[in-house]
Amino acid sequence: MPHIETISVQGGYRPGNGEPRQLPIIQSTTFKYESSEQMARLFDLSEAGYFYTRLQNPTNDHAAAKICAMEGGAAAMLTSSGQAASFFALFNICSAGDHIVASSAIYGGTYNLIAVTMRRMGIGCTFVHPDADADEINAAFCSKTRAVFAESLANPAMVVLDFEKWADAAHAHGVPLIVDNTFPTPVNCRPFEFGADIVVHSTTKYMDGHATCVGGAIVDSGNFDWEQNPDMFRGLTLPDDSYHGVVYTRDFGKGAYITKAVAQLMRDLGSTPAPMNSFLLNTHLESLPLRMKRHCENAQAVAQYLSGHGQVTWVNYPGLPGNRYHALAQKYMPHGTCGVISFGVAGGREAAAKFMDSLKMCAIATHVADAKTCVLHPAGTTHRQMTDAQLEAAGVGPDLVRLSCGIENAQDIIEDIGQALGAV
Ligand SMILES: *Cc1c(COP(=O)(O)O)cnc(C)c1O
Repeated sequence: MPHIETISVQGGYRPGNGEPRQLPIIQSTTFKYESSEQMARLFDLSEAGYFYTRLQNPTNDHAAAKICAMEGGAAAMLTSSGQAASFFALFNICSAGDHIVASSAIYGGTYNLIAVTMRRMGIGCTFVHPDADADEINAAFCSKTRAVFAESLANPAMVVLDFEKWADAAHAHGVPLIVDNTFPTPVNCRPFEFGADIVVHSTTKYMDGHATCVGGAIVDSGNFDWEQNPDMFRGLTLPDDSYHGVVYTRDFGKGAYITKAVAQLMRDLGSTPAPMNSFLLNTHLESLPLRMKRHCENAQAVAQYLSGHGQVTWVNYPGLPGNRYHALAQKYMPHGTCGVISFGVAGGREAAAKFMDSLKMCAIATHVADAKTCVLHPAGTTHRQMTDAQLEAAGVGPDLVRLSCGIENAQDIIEDIGQALGAV
């Protein structure tokens, strides 16, 4: 097995003799055939091939194959956003009347997707704190539970998931563990090695890494045995009438879950990435291992600087030895976590705002995880409708600043932060 640095560069697209060295952008909605009979076989899924980009496109598939190899998976697909990836990953195995167990420390957009929108579709959810003990997690399940969802490194709480604990709970109830691995990326964490069954990504973050394309990915390990409890996953184990009786588990083996998601959800909901975006993603993936290393080095240096600064009341970064998740981070992400740090500025809301306004290089942006250092003050932006008391309850105090360390020179980031703290 090649190392991740090699897969990031060479994985996915493998040109043949005389073919383009770089992944071609197949900017075509449709594909030509000479026989209507072959076209019919494609529509029946009895033959593999491209016919319409809403379902599949070669540029998208090559980029997906690279991410699949990076995660050590069996099959993968891209989506037009991380939100679409999380929704497809769950909706592929849950329908009205079913239930999900989810970590409560997840990205706000995913929380809303599950707690509001999917609930409106009749899919219930019980949220459990990721640090809960096994009994509490087990108590969240019911006979209709079909999936468990958590983040490997939670955005923005920076909680590191206790993978084995969550995987054991999911498997004891016969359902897969789906892990959003956006923040550490497969460079720093490979959830399949710790019992996760399916991984989702917002490729918008470190994978793209340059703030150019919104996108998502779903990777299936191929390890979960859907036929162990065939009645729980009838969409995979019983004939699909919309494809003349195809049975995904029987006909596609380890590709069953992804084939179903493409054949049904992409067909009907169409959250397809543009081939141009997949080209950019594929190119940016080549430098992901280099970038993650630098993001982590910079964040470690900045976190240490902040920890020793008199105007900083607290720092949350799992790379710091005193951090609550330091031991779990060492276990599951020994080479580093990611570049995101949260910290408190002495003086609360006003001091945090003054600090942000005084930054010169670090940009104020509703974004994390790209090459350029950026900062966000949730109390003044994404959470501005909340009172200070509500903010404290949500774990996003009025003093909290979220800093996403880029890949610039660490000393330059620290100098900018230092002068801005000085101006408060
Ligand atoms: C940003 C993000 C998402 C949503 O992804 P989009 O590409 O913005 O749709 C999901 N999960 C995590 C952890 C994220 O950071």
